[in-house]
Amino acid sequence: MPLQIHQFPCREDNYGFLAHDPESGSTACIDTPDADATNAALEEKGWRLTHILNTHHHGDHTGANLPLKEQWGCTIVGAANDAERIPGIDVRVSEGDEYTFGSMTAQVFEVPGHTSGHIAYYFASEGVAFVGDTLFALGCGRLFEGTPAMMWSSLQKLMALPDDTVVYCAHEYTQANAQFALSVEPGNERLVARSKEIDELRARGLPTVPTTIGLERATNPFVRPMSENLQATIGLSGADLVAVFAETRKRKDNF
Ligand code: ZN
Ligand code: FE
Repeated sequence: MPLQIHQFPCREDNYGFLAHDPESGSTACIDTPDADATNAALEEKGWRLTHILNTHHHGDHTGANLPLKEQWGCTIVGAANDAERIPGIDVRVSEGDEYTFGSMTAQVFEVPGHTSGHIAYYFASEGVAFVGDTLFALGCGRLFEGTPAMMWSSLQKLMALPDDTVVYCAHEYTQANAQFALSVEPGNERLVARSKEIDELRARGLPTVPTTIGLERATNPFVRPMSENLQATIGLSGADLVAVFAETRKRKDNF
């Protein structure tokens, strides 16, 4: 039976996610932006929280770890190399590990850059990835604790997944990201079309998350440093891909 995923908005612009394995009855939440919103979602679905899968230590991702653990007695999974910053961590995972909850197995990718200990969870059997603040719809996380080369390598790991992989990112930043993307790759017709669809969705109050690897590959400037139109627009025609990525990220920081 497939993994059932329930997405709910919370805080300013976060998404919370519940992942329910109907075979075992286990339910994981991916990060803990808000205890009340998570509990409301659990109640709405009639699910019991058994696991927390953390992507990184920021407060809008681990802030409700301890109250949810106290309430539910759930198991908290997080990055081994960042364990001291993951409140209540029980299981420490690293690159290449597989973590199984119920009948569902996630592959763990280390994707540093936004933070030094950021990880992503990929459920290959379901074609689903939870990427936290590493890859966004039309964007990527700010480089708080990593170099452009580090983040580019992390993004490439994610972009190696199949095009139809459904990508759950942790924030609704897409409309602002689209404005920036259009400014650096104005000649990308699929980006222009996607930007219109995004405006329509947001005008109706609808989410633009999840996205897919294929859609990001075609339209997200942060994974398209090889684009001649992007390179020309930012004055780096023929430059190496890390340099193009670094300049793109810098321009977004100042956009
Ligand atoms: Zn973050
Ligand atoms: Fe965040």
